[in-house]
Amino acid sequence: MDLSPNAADFVQPFQIEGLGLRGRLVRLGPVVRSVVAHHGYPPAVTALMAETLALAAVLASALKYDGVFTLQLRGDGPLSLVVVDITSAGDMRGYARCDEAAIGDALPAGAVSVPRLMGAGTMVFTVDQGPRTERYQGVTALEGASLSECAHAYFRQSEQVQTAIILVAAPEPDTAGDETAAGIRAAALMIQRLAGSDDGDATADENWHRAVVLMSSVRADELLSSMLSPAEVLFRLFHEDGVRLFRQRPLRAGCRCSQTKVERLIATFSPAEITTMADNGRIAVTCEFCKTVYDVTVGTA
Ligand SMILES: [Zn+2]
Repeated sequence: MDLSPNAADFVQPFQIEGLGLRGRLVRLGPVVRSVVAHHGYPPAVTALMAETLALAAVLASALKYDGVFTLQLRGDGPLSLVVVDITSAGDMRGYARCDEAAIGDALPAGAVSVPRLMGAGTMVFTVDQGPRTERYQGVTALEGASLSECAHAYFRQSEQVQTAIILVAAPEPDTAGDETAAGIRAAALMIQRLAGSDDGDATADENWHRAVVLMSSVRADELLSSMLSPAEVLFRLFHEDGVRLFRQRPLRAGCRCSQTKVERLIATFSPAEITTMADNGRIAVTCEFCKTVYDVTVGTA
């Protein structure tokens, strides 16, 4: 059991037998800052990106897969796309496409409004486990004022186990006195009813409702603060019911782009297309995720 309070980016799995549930606490700091670096998103987009990273991490951590889990938000609003992916090893990346002028610099207090930013749209989940396996894809409408509500709508529609989730993103609360040092942080708390706890059983139902009420009492700063270890947060919420913590898993920012992949991509174009794209026999390709620029030398036709 790893109780290290200083790990900045992690998934902390836990179980509460007394309440018949399992859960995950995700906290992200440096990962968010690294993903949004060099993009210059408006603050509202950065906040939604942070929440989307936390949602992807918490959903992926509850799945058994060996590959890449991708979460996409697509809409017809000024923020048209948010893509986040996470490998089974815990490497995360993401990018957004938005009309910066239409969104502006205002960051509303509280959760970011998904309808205002994204309009009408969908949430797409993909699990890719390599070329010889079938890709899993789930699509659901973006329904809800906040990303937490959209996730709840998805859980209600799909035939998943009963799930409750809280997503938060905010500047680091512990550095309030030093705003220049404050970076955006995100957290997710998710609980799921254990398969063994029967639906329809009055005590099991009561336990689930009690767990949701206890969970809802958590404050955003408790979830986000690096001053509180995950054990402290969970014991504060659920102490009477016996929280059991499992091994904490680290998360990192990491892109999978490379010179070789870019060269392979360019090789898929026709010689005429390559000639059009090339400038003095070179093509510069920028990775949409991490903004690394690759310089590829091509033979001019
Ligand atoms: Zn990249």
